Amino acid sequence: MFGQEERFVGKGVSYCADCDAWFYRGKKVLVIGDGSAAIHGAKILKKFADKVYFYGLKPIPEEFLSELTAVSIEILSKKPVEIMGDNEVKGVVFDDGTQLELDGIFIEIGAKGPIELLAPIGIELDPETFSYVKVDRKMQTNVQGVFACGDLTGPPLQLAKAVGEGCVAGLSASDYVKQVLKNLKEV
Ligand SMILES: Cc1cc2nc3c(=O)[nH]c(=O)nc-3n(C[C@H](O)[C@H](O)[C@H](O)COP(=O)(O)OP(=O)(O)OC[C@H]3O[C@@H](n4cnc5c(N)ncnc54)[C@H](O)[C@@H]3O)c2cc1C
Repeated sequence: MFGQEERFVGKGVSYCADCDAWFYRGKKVLVIGDGSAAIHGAKILKKFADKVYFYGLKPIPEEFLSELTAVSIEILSKKPVEIMGDNEVKGVVFDDGTQLELDGIFIEIGAKGPIELLAPIGIELDPETFSYVKVDRKMQTNVQGVFACGDLTGPPLQLAKAVGEGCVAGLSASDYVKQVLKNLKEV
């Protein structure tokens, strides 16, 4: 998205303030993004970083902006266009050619969850919260040949559960493909 972004992933460019804010204790960071993800990210970072700058990719409602300024997050109006640095992020260049020294850049544009991605293709979600994909013990969804596992199928959101379910889903998918091939040979 920004000049040199790909080169600096994991070297000062992060996409998860919840995961990486801790590494920027006492440092200077810029949050680039939009919507609640960017606002949440900036507020989390302010708990750790010494200085947090914010650049909104889309206009942000005044009440949200005042939430940021209330905790001394500095809103930038100049557009960052290029990341500076050799082996790690050292700052950004703006569209007017000026520069800002930084230790980290957080790109927070949010993520689509199961509702947005899966409901439109007919995959059934759990009827209580509509937050997770409904599966049977073989990790089969209501759509034949589509299997789900891990966090997507609901709590507990733990690695051990994700790995176990992944194993079952993989074996079930393999059985499904074998059955489809067998049926094709019989036709
Ligand atoms: C900060 C943090 C700490 C944690 N600590 C622990 C812990 O100590 N112990 C523990 O057991 N669990 C812990 N967890 C939970 C654990 O990480 C998850 O339960 C586990 O990773 C779930 O695995 P998963 O494969 O279901 O999902 P994920 O690991 O989230 O994998 C999903 C993958 O899908 C990719 N993806 C998403 N959307 C798309 C798309 N549209 N197209 C293509 N790819 C896509 C993602 O990039 C990702 O690689 C922690 C989680 C976090 C965030």
